[in-house]
Amino acid sequence: MSKNTVNKVTKKIVCGNWKMNPLSLKEAEKLLIEISKSFSLIKKTEIIICPPFIYLEPLRRLLKAKSYKLKPNLGAQDSFWGDKGAYTGEISVEMLYNIGARYVILGHSERRALGENNNDINKKIKASISAGLRPILCVGESIRDENHEYLNFIKMQIEECLNGISKDSISKVIIAYEPIWAIGKGSYPATPEEFREMNIFIRKILNDKFGAKMIGKIRIIYGGSADEKNTEGFIKDGEADGFLLGRASLDAKKFSKIVEICETLDK
Ligand code: PEP
Repeated sequence: MSKNTVNKVTKKIVCGNWKMNPLSLKEAEKLLIEISKSFSLIKKTEIIICPPFIYLEPLRRLLKAKSYKLKPNLGAQDSFWGDKGAYTGEISVEMLYNIGARYVILGHSERRALGENNNDINKKIKASISAGLRPILCVGESIRDENHEYLNFIKMQIEECLNGISKDSISKVIIAYEPIWAIGKGSYPATPEEFREMNIFIRKILNDKFGAKMIGKIRIIYGGSADEKNTEGFIKDGEADGFLLGRASLDAKKFSKIVEICETLDK
């Protein structure tokens, strides 16, 4: 495959999904401070931290009180599609926006494993865009089969999750390709070439759905055992627009190194 076949937006995204970590606010504050301190020279990379819901507000206050040159954006790891009322245990997109979140991860495979489907995710994406949040839509197959059925699976995920999203709104959506087989401890990452093929495939789906003008504005990032050692490969050979990081986002040194590499390689 020739180079430069993938349309690119220049500013990279590095998003940390802290999942259900750390166990105390004190540790969460410590981690955010460690991460944020190292960003003084970062200009071209967008940094997003997605802590557990209950830490969003205190972490926003903490960032406000500090005079860091660059403060990371805060995002949530999920949201609900209903606007308010009788939805026990849920958190609305407006609530998230009002406490300072500007991004929301939607359709993560760990939420899908708990029963969330493309239709639920579609409703959440629409709600989050209306509230001013930028959704990070996760897609990814659990296995790769010889007949390439996984490509149809990804196509269906994208088409169903983005059903009814307008051309004007689509540039707000960030797509995270996260093959499930690559996520978590004991897994191995996709290769930059595998990501690159998927990147082109996803852009083709978006092109057919939203038109050529829009696809250059949509960022497609990689997630699944990404770390400081494979960052360069995913950017140079995979043409990734950034990363969704699980474990590496809980290690301030690794996270900062990944941001630094993204910044250096950005044009
Ligand atoms: C994830 O769960 O989104 C993820 C990318 O995890 P990890 O980086 O730990 O594989």
